[in-house]
Amino acid sequence: MVSCGLGSGIWDSGFRTIMSVSKLNGVAVEQLENKAQWVWEETLKLHKRSQETRVASSLSPIEIFVVLYYGGFLHQDPHNPRWDGRDRCIISKGHGSLCMYPILADLGFFSIDELEKVCQEGSFLGGIPDPIIPGYETVNGSLGHGAGVGAGMALGLKRRGKDQAVYVVTGDGELHEGSNWEAFMFAAQHGLDNLVIIVDNNQICMLGPTDEIVSHRNLKGKFEAFGWSAREVADGHSVAAIGAALIECQHDRSGKPKVIIANTRKGNRVPGLENAPLSHVTAINPDLIDRLLAGEGA
Ligand SMILES: [Mg+2]
Repeated sequence: MVSCGLGSGIWDSGFRTIMSVSKLNGVAVEQLENKAQWVWEETLKLHKRSQETRVASSLSPIEIFVVLYYGGFLHQDPHNPRWDGRDRCIISKGHGSLCMYPILADLGFFSIDELEKVCQEGSFLGGIPDPIIPGYETVNGSLGHGAGVGAGMALGLKRRGKDQAVYVVTGDGELHEGSNWEAFMFAAQHGLDNLVIIVDNNQICMLGPTDEIVSHRNLKGKFEAFGWSAREVADGHSVAAIGAALIECQHDRSGKPKVIIANTRKGNRVPGLENAPLSHVTAINPDLIDRLLAGEGA
């Protein structure tokens, strides 16, 4: 079972985060960093096998998912993915969830052998995922729905007297969809403090920098104006910082839904792809992947 528990040694008496942490929920930060490196490499390997997959969008949320799944935040049972007592995790930016496949396989949601078949006929691992994949809660192809579905789940859990949490990972460009803001109003109205949204804020959407398409301007302030408890993580590739923000959410007694805006880099650590305006639709040359996996850089 993917377990969850509050650790010790990272809080002061006022429940303010002490950032120089070595462990999250009893898991060594170094172990999480090593896992994130492994997921980064496996994601590149998957993309080399299936160049149609959206790789740049999958390289920015790796540390977010690693902390959620390996850092003791999600109660889930890989051998019973629909276990009623599970915390829910919705990957709303479906096009960027290629990095989830090695994580779910590694945790035992499905065989690691399935990774060899990504995007092949007969495989349930497609370029855009859906709930046929063990561990996936929702269809993710149409953007802007994760927050609404997550809010509904959070309300349902509350009404059944359950204490599980619902985590939703969205893209920043995805927040252009108005349906998100309906869901944000709804969640605040109903005091869904069991809902945590994590924005993979790589600041690039499909056709260029998000700010140049439709700027979010002061995204944290917008969430707060909508009645949310909001916090920002300056380096969304720091597992310690993401973990600290998640623990802050767990200790937040404001009664509000919570959001973490994690500033990430699209195409993280791939020369020519990182922060490139059109990286969303760019494939990585297989030779470059080989060099990166060999630790040679560009
Ligand atoms: Mg983006």
